[in-house]
Parts: sequence; C-alpha cells; structure tokens
Amino acid sequence: MARPAVGTARPARIGRPAALERAQARFEPMRQCHPMPDQTLSVVQPRTSAGPSAAAGIAGLAVAQLEAWFRERGEPTFRARQVLDAVWRSGAPDPSAISTLPAGTRAALAAAFRWDTVADSELTVADGGRTQKALHRLGDDVAIESVLMHYPGGPDRRERNTLCISSQAGCAVGCPFCATGELGFGRDLETAEILDQVRAAARRLAPRGRRLTNIVFMGMGEPLLNLDRVLEAVEALNDPARFGLGARHITVSTSGVVPGIRRLTALGPQFTLAISLHAARDPLRDVLVPLNRRWPVAEVVAAAREHATATGRRISYEVTMIGGVNDTDDDADAMASLLRGTLAHVNLIPMNAVAHTPWTASPMPVIEHFAERLRTVGLSVTIRRNRGQEVGAACGQLAAERAGAPSAPSVARRRERLVASSAAALRGERSTETAPVGWDD
Ligand code: SAH
Ligand code: SF4
Repeated sequence: MARPAVGTARPARIGRPAALERAQARFEPMRQCHPMPDQTLSVVQPRTSAGPSAAAGIAGLAVAQLEAWFRERGEPTFRARQVLDAVWRSGAPDPSAISTLPAGTRAALAAAFRWDTVADSELTVADGGRTQKALHRLGDDVAIESVLMHYPGGPDRRERNTLCISSQAGCAVGCPFCATGELGFGRDLETAEILDQVRAAARRLAPRGRRLTNIVFMGMGEPLLNLDRVLEAVEALNDPARFGLGARHITVSTSGVVPGIRRLTALGPQFTLAISLHAARDPLRDVLVPLNRRWPVAEVVAAAREHATATGRRISYEVTMIGGVNDTDDDADAMASLLRGTLAHVNLIPMNAVAHTPWTASPMPVIEHFAERLRTVGLSVTIRRNRGQEVGAACGQLAAERAGAPSAPSVARRRERLVASSAAALRGERSTETAPVGWDD
C-alpha cells in the first residue's frame, strides 16, 4: 500500500534497512526452553501456519465485510457473527473448529482468509513473570514485537493487563534513543497483523482467567504513518462484536505527525492520544525526534491542544528521560511554559538503555526534580518505571539485538556525532544538517 501522504515530508531517516533484514533473517524460534530463576524462554507453537499468502487476515474484517462474503456465497449472513465469535472469543485454532458451520463453509473460510497472520511467537518473560515480550514472526518472515505487562490489583485499584503493540515493522522516524529507530523502516503492518498481536496475548491470558484491560500503540513503528490501518484496528478493538474494549482503554502514541493528529481531531476519537515530546526546544528535539525538522514542537503541541479541545480528552505527553541530555532545568522550564494551561498529563520515563547510543537514563532524583518543576505550573506528572528492562521492553529492542551489532568504529563514530549534536542542541544551536544523525555505513 502506498504510504499515507504526510505533506512534503520525506521519511526523516531510513536508517539501516539492512539491519532490519538481518533481524528477520536471524529470527529463529527457540527450540529448547532454558528455565532460569528470573527469566524463562519459551515458544508459543503456531496455531495455524501463516504463510506469505495474499489472503486477507480474518481479524481485519468487520461484521459487514464478512456478511457480504456470506451473502455472495448465498449463505445466511448471521454466520458472520458466528465466525467473529470464533475469531475473537472462543480461541478456535482454525475454522475447522467452528462446529456450528457446515463443513463446506469452514473449508471455504480456510481457503479465503488467513486465520492468524502471526506464524509463531517467541516469548521472553521477566519481572517475575509480570512482563512478557513476544517476538512475532509474520507470514513473510518479518519480525515484530509486542509487550504484555501485568499490574496486580490492590485495595484501591483494579488489576491491569496492558498490551503494547506494533503498527509497523521498523520505523522511518529514526529517534536515536530508540531501538526501532535504529532498525530503519521495514513495512506497514496490515490491519490483521496489528490485531493478531492482541489475539495472541488474549489467548495467553485466558487460561489464567485474565483479560486485556489496556492496549497501547507504543510498540514498533509510527502509528500515524500507517493511520488507515491503525484506525481500522482501533475500530475492531472497540467493536462489541469483535474485541469490545472501551476506547478509553486504548492509547495511540505519535512522535508528532501533525497532519495525522489533525485527521484524528476531525474524527473525534475517544481513545487517548499520546505525544512523544522528549524536548520542548527545537534544537534538541531535532536531534531526539528527527520528525521535528518537518513539524516543529510548537506546531505539534498546537495540533495536540486542538485535539484536546475538540475531543475533551486529555493529551498524554511522553518524555524519555536521558541523562544529561533532556533533563536540565532549562528543559523542564521550556516544557512547563509550552504545556501550561493545556489539558495534559506528562509521563516521565527513564530511558531504557539501547545498544549503540551514548546515552543512559537520567538518575531518579533528577527525574523527580524535573517533575517538580513541571508541577509548579499546575501540570499533572507521573514518573513511570520502565518495565521489562531485562527483556529489552523498549520498542524494537529485541529485534535490534537480533540484527547484530554494527562494526565498532561505526558505533564509535555515531556516538561521537550524537554527543556533539546533543551538546550543540543544549547550547541552543539548531542543526543545519538536512539529515538527522544516522549510521554512516
Ligand atoms: N512511534 C511512536 C510510538 C512507538 S514508540 C512514538 O514515538 O510515539 C513508543 C514510546 O517508546 C515513545 O514515547 C518512545 O519515545 C518510547 N521509547 C523508545 N525508545 C525508548 C527507550 N530506549 N527508552 C524509553 N522509552 C523509549
Ligand atoms: Fe519510531 Fe517512535 Fe522509535 Fe521514534 S520512538 S523511532 S517514532 S518507534
């Protein structure tokens, strides 16, 4: 599919597609389990063999589309709901398990649609079993990631099971602190490929009587650069005949694709929009979020403000806290004046260490001090703990590790350039480079 038009923007950095290819090539499900005290590796066996077929993934179909398919076959349309029940609720491994359907219909369904677009998933478990990272292999051997986080309930809060899903394989935006950014762009995910991450997690939870309570589009990729499919996926998640999750339990995160934010505002969705802010000053944000060169931070926040006003929904601003880079008092004050008076909540997240960058997380006292400066202008702020660090739960980290390390001199050169560009940004110098800091080989 052609990528949605985003004005005159070109992808900020195409990154290292070769690395993405290496990641895919090295995807090989674990053949043995190696139980360890704190971490268990296991394989979820394929439920059906998804192949590189052109058939549509069944999870991407709405009731009306499936009804039309039955109508064309001269079959009663109520069967569409029986099928969707099997897809979304019963956990049926394939259409042959839908006993309410005639055998011929089951065979026709199996021939017309892919029951599951995920061929298999490799699981890595951490945090005493509360974080599960899944590396999913799709029909064409592309690898993507989802992360399932369990938050136990307490006297004053309900248990939560949050799933972080991918919308693209890789990402063209190329934020230098992000493992997915390092991989470069692979391809957009199909609607069913987005949704099958959700079905896979729901199946893992079901035997323990648990269900997903929250879904966040914070895995691999920039959701607003695959917006048509992301919107179809949100509709399916929301639809009572399919996954049936309230819109308020869904969050879509963007690095600041302004036309996409405006398009969402016109649609008036009730899901939460998260903006990956990271810096309030253009020179630094140009380095941290290369898309900022196309849509500067003031434009992003203006679009987000309009979104909040139109939908009445609070915007969630995400700030990955990078030690000595975006955590100074000047940064906090710039962010405070940019966001004050807006319907906003700020999440401060310590950076998850990613190979090949020179940076690490800000120390917790620095993050607490930053939060306090934001609170002085009345902003609501939460400091989030990074879950599953030992499994590389920041988006794309597992796939990036599979890609293997680039050469040591290349890593050293890139680190040097990142240090230089962020130091220049801290001095308030705006880079005149047209290309953001990327790989030189
Ligand atoms: N592309 C979208 C959504 C996916 S990234 C976006 O950028 O918003 C989801 C979140 O993970 C973003 O807020 C991103 O900044 C954050 N993230 C990426 N790498 C990280 C890291 N190494 N440590 C902490 N957060 C990270
Ligand atoms: Fe892409 Fe988001 Fe990672 Fe930036 S943080 S490279 S936009 S996935």
